[in-house]
Amino acid sequence: MNLSKNTLKEFDLRHTGCREDILASFQTYSHALSHGDLENLFGERFDRVTIYRTLKTFVEKGIIHKVLDDEGGTKYALCRSTECSHEEHHHDHVHFKCVSCGNTTCLESVHIPKISLPDGYKLSEINMLMQGTCPVCNA
Ligand SMILES: [Zn+2]
Ligand SMILES: [Zn+2]
Ligand SMILES: [Zn+2]
Repeated sequence: MNLSKNTLKEFDLRHTGCREDILASFQTYSHALSHGDLENLFGERFDRVTIYRTLKTFVEKGIIHKVLDDEGGTKYALCRSTECSHEEHHHDHVHFKCVSCGNTTCLESVHIPKISLPDGYKLSEINMLMQGTCPVCNA
């Protein structure tokens, strides 16, 4: 079974080699991937602009979401919430970055507490990054 093909079809996206391969890597790795990670994986086959556009399309379609990194970069992870759709992401989970291996993981079971903002502020997105050491590094 080719999972990535099914998902691309579900999201009404035309199949391209780049889309299929990038989606497959998000399904393979359990941690978030950066543009640089994908370039390392596919840099010889797809140029950086194609990879960038694919990531942008996936975010817009609700297939992956952004995971902010402490070093100012952005990583991306698969949306496991069925509520994510075109331009509308619904996540309230935290992200955990391991300071030892550098992998960032979605902790779907750990929810960001409800935060109230002062009058006049409208919330569109929360990113919570926790840091520490992951189970693999702690083993
Ligand atoms: Zn999402
Ligand atoms: Zn680790
Ligand atoms: Zn996440």
